[in-house]
Amino acid sequence: MNKNTEALGPIKNLAYIITITGLILGGFIALFFASLSVFKAVELERAEGRAQLYHSTLVSALERLEHLPFIVAQDPAVVRALEQKDVAGLNQRLEDFANRSKAEAIYVMDANGWTIAASNYAKEINFLGKNYGFRPYFKDAMAGKRGEFFAIGATTFTPGFFIGDTVRDSTGKPIGVVALKIALSELTGAWAASGDDILVTNKDGIVVFATSDEWRYRATTELSESQRIQIQNMQQFGKQELQPIDWLLGQDNEVQLDGTNYLYANKQLERRGWTLWYINPASSLFERTWFVIILAAIVVAIMGIAFVTFRSNQLQRALKASHDDRLKLVAEIEERKATQRRLEQTRSELARTSKLAALGQLAASVTHELGQPISAMRNYLAAEEISSGHKPGGLVDQLRGLVQRMENITKELKFFSVRGDNTTEDIVIRDLVDGAIGLVKHDLVQQNIKIDIHLATTLPTIKGNKQRLEQVLVNLFRNAISAMRESDKKQLEITATADQEHLTIAVRDWGHGLAGQSIEQLQEPFHTNKPSGEGMGLGLAISAAIVREHQGLLSASDYEIGAQFIIQLPIGEE
Ligand code: ADP
Repeated sequence: MNKNTEALGPIKNLAYIITITGLILGGFIALFFASLSVFKAVELERAEGRAQLYHSTLVSALERLEHLPFIVAQDPAVVRALEQKDVAGLNQRLEDFANRSKAEAIYVMDANGWTIAASNYAKEINFLGKNYGFRPYFKDAMAGKRGEFFAIGATTFTPGFFIGDTVRDSTGKPIGVVALKIALSELTGAWAASGDDILVTNKDGIVVFATSDEWRYRATTELSESQRIQIQNMQQFGKQELQPIDWLLGQDNEVQLDGTNYLYANKQLERRGWTLWYINPASSLFERTWFVIILAAIVVAIMGIAFVTFRSNQLQRALKASHDDRLKLVAEIEERKATQRRLEQTRSELARTSKLAALGQLAASVTHELGQPISAMRNYLAAEEISSGHKPGGLVDQLRGLVQRMENITKELKFFSVRGDNTTEDIVIRDLVDGAIGLVKHDLVQQNIKIDIHLATTLPTIKGNKQRLEQVLVNLFRNAISAMRESDKKQLEITATADQEHLTIAVRDWGHGLAGQSIEQLQEPFHTNKPSGEGMGLGLAISAAIVREHQGLLSASDYEIGAQFIIQLPIGEE
């Protein structure tokens, strides 16, 4: 990834976050309007149902007794009372009718509007002797048609619905009116108890019934002067001032009433010019809509949290998997490196072993070839000495010294060329140590070196080539002897111990020490610290190779004074 695309990362993330937030917000707004319109549709349907119900109860209340005045008008007692001014018993008769039909009042007026008989004659406030000639239902009835009218009672001051019908004489001429008052208070009381909000307006837009007192007898439209005069003349609303009400019809069945928004459903009572309004506060719609939005927000939040948790789990799993893979890879790499190291070790060992084998052959042929000339030189020198007498420090002596040196070198070479056979046997450690000591005994005695041998009592035997292991010990002894040439303390300590798996032989001296050289350096072929002619730097190389042949390990360590070489051999293996 280059720098530019790297810098785009946070911008991309920001754009992503803005897009997601925008989508969620857009979703919420869409959901808001969708649920609002759904709730509105549901509410309107409900309102329609309620309005229809209230409409039918009102219509049935109004129409239940609408034929009663007509029937009473046919009553001969009523006709007689009007024709002959004989009202005897008529009041009681009307009272009986009213009680049976549950009408508020039934009463009879003469042609001038004076009440001559009334069902409420016995009550303190009654219609007897009152004139209702100004009422439209009276005028209509006197004109020969049935009259209907809503008004606040001029006598009782209670509202009611009035129905009037014509009383005719035998010639068919109108001679009076029978009127009926229906109270409707029971019905409107039941409406109010239902908890619903209902209004009924008349053709002038005046509220004639309402479940709230505040709305009753108020004008939803502005009344003209002539309308007001007419209403006054009919005394329709008594002393009510018919104040205007804040009533604003909006679109989509919405109405504002006294500053509150409502949804409405309305039904016409056509014959009377009335309208029934069922209204319901629009705030309930918003409450429900907000409830849906909050619910949706909770669902979105839960889904968001679930998604984030799921993603982080997924990431964690992926991270763990990649971590595991990495660990596996690291382990594999380590294993490969170790294999590589082993391979290299084996390769260098192979090279060293083959070098040593070649050296062994070379050493064998050199010692063989030099053997005869050296012994011939020795013979010639002896003959020369016999013939010309011994002159100490003379030429013969000097030549003899050189011959001796050459013999030393060949001896050394001979030691390395000894391969012996490859036979293995059970070796008793004491025999092995004693054998090797025997071979260097001469040098030990000559240099006055004390030998200190500690062999554990129950040492196991080991399987191997005795001659070659002896060669290793001899080499270690010789190196120790040569290291102690100048030492004050001349002691060679040989210790052998064993555990379950290994036998350990340690050779310790008090010589000049290794001066920090590692066993790897020391066992390099031709690595020697001895002066020319004394060492060839092959002893430890060969010794280590022999120990390895026996699956063992040769190691070395420095002491404050002297050094120690340790041979470790596995028990029970060849
Ligand atoms: P060489 O004896 O022919 O030098 P080696 O391989 O036997 O060859 O030894 C290598 C070198 O290790 C020696 O030259 C000597 O410096 C050092 N060395 C070996 N054994 C000892 C010892 N016991 N104390 C001090 N130095 C030692």
